[in-house]
Amino acid sequence: MRSELKVYNTLTRQKEGFLPMCPPRVGMYVCGPTVYGRAHLGHARSAINFDVVFRYLKHLGYQVRYVRNITDVGHLERDADEGADKIAQQARIEALEPMEVVQRYTNSYRQDMTLLNVQSPSIEPCASGHIPEQVAMIEQIMRAGFGYESHGSVYFDVEAYRKVYHYGKLSGRVVEELIAGTRLLSGQQEKRNQLDFALWKKATPAHLMRWPSPWGEGFPGWHIECSAIATKYLGPQFDIHGGGMDLLFPHHECECAQAQAAYRTELAKYWLHNNLITIDGQKMGKSLGNAITLEQLFHGTHPLLDQAHSPMTLRFFILQAHYRSMLSFSNEALRAAQSGYFKLMNGLKVLNELPYTESNDVGIEQTIAARVEHGCTRCYEAMNDDFNTTQMIATLFDLLKTIHALKSGQLSPGLLGPTVFEHLKNTYSTFVLDILGLQQESRVSVTALLDILLELYSQAKAQKQYSQVDAIRVKLRALGVALQDMPTGVQWSYGYAVT
Ligand code: ZN
Repeated sequence: MRSELKVYNTLTRQKEGFLPMCPPRVGMYVCGPTVYGRAHLGHARSAINFDVVFRYLKHLGYQVRYVRNITDVGHLERDADEGADKIAQQARIEALEPMEVVQRYTNSYRQDMTLLNVQSPSIEPCASGHIPEQVAMIEQIMRAGFGYESHGSVYFDVEAYRKVYHYGKLSGRVVEELIAGTRLLSGQQEKRNQLDFALWKKATPAHLMRWPSPWGEGFPGWHIECSAIATKYLGPQFDIHGGGMDLLFPHHECECAQAQAAYRTELAKYWLHNNLITIDGQKMGKSLGNAITLEQLFHGTHPLLDQAHSPMTLRFFILQAHYRSMLSFSNEALRAAQSGYFKLMNGLKVLNELPYTESNDVGIEQTIAARVEHGCTRCYEAMNDDFNTTQMIATLFDLLKTIHALKSGQLSPGLLGPTVFEHLKNTYSTFVLDILGLQQESRVSVTALLDILLELYSQAKAQKQYSQVDAIRVKLRALGVALQDMPTGVQWSYGYAVT
């Protein structure tokens, strides 16, 4: 199965067989969030798409070192070299220390990821904890002749780089068009050319997040953060670099250039980009002012939402689209996703409760058994085709038809034979739980269930059915719920479970 995996590589613009550099080890880096606000749907899409890549590679037996950073410094407005630091700006709004802002939104990001059943990466480094590594990489770029100091800041020299390497090869952007399309903003005169980007920025007296460096006090640029962190933990060249399509230019192009300049390596062998979520045909993003946060989605508190949608509904909604396809947000699409999620989980419940029984009279029906086996294989084929979760989910729905026939008795497990029956169970649960990462969401209120039981208890008592009364009392006691008969009626309290 491993040898059949093909991934679409943005760098070469084609699907390629996946060949890790040091099998079975795989190094994977994905750009994480800038922690100055609650995570929104765009964050969820990138995290969930690469969570599935992480899960599937592990399922295939690879030892994956997955690094996803936390950007807690150096991310300026408009993703440019000028403007306010997003975190410092938020700190002023909330009257907090910048590091309090960082902690608050790192915590909320991790809570959201837990709700979405996104597995923690192997390493989750933050930019502020890796300043020496970033300074060292900048010095390396300067030694190689691709960086220059200007007024206490350091810039990457795109012109010098272009004489040796291809700037634009990842994103497909053409330098001449980029130059025509950009203007030199005020305060950028210290750059030699307008496409040069900051590796290190001199801190103004008011700038709160600042570190000493060979060029004076300042802070690192955003692009150098990812290159320095990725190469520290994964080496100067690693297997997969992932992120949202919106990061392709300038962020990933600059990351590529920095690694070439410093280490003369192609930073990553495979570049994977997930597409964006749109809303009314527009890109969704915090900077565009139309982003729905996960908190708003889970509570139904955004004006565009007509109800709350659960984390697993969102997970299914994201995965029923291929990661490279645009995903259009709507309440209807989320309701359809919820229904799909319920169907898959109910199928799992049926399979878990279904015992294998021999079919005495007929024996194994080869055509049906072969069809089920084929369905199981197609789940792998779909994932091996550039992580095609859309096709994989469609195949699981096909298998559901067989599962429902088994449930209704139309089909007996014996017709599949014990091997195929077990294979169906294992494959279905592996793909639903381990690879899609769906999980049970308890929607049942325990208190409401207890109220129903108390009513049954009272009815049994009124009808003098004392054996039933005792049975309910003893069973609840075993779960740590004590019943008390009061003049006003029966009441429950927390009690010690009888073990
Ligand atoms: Zn990055």
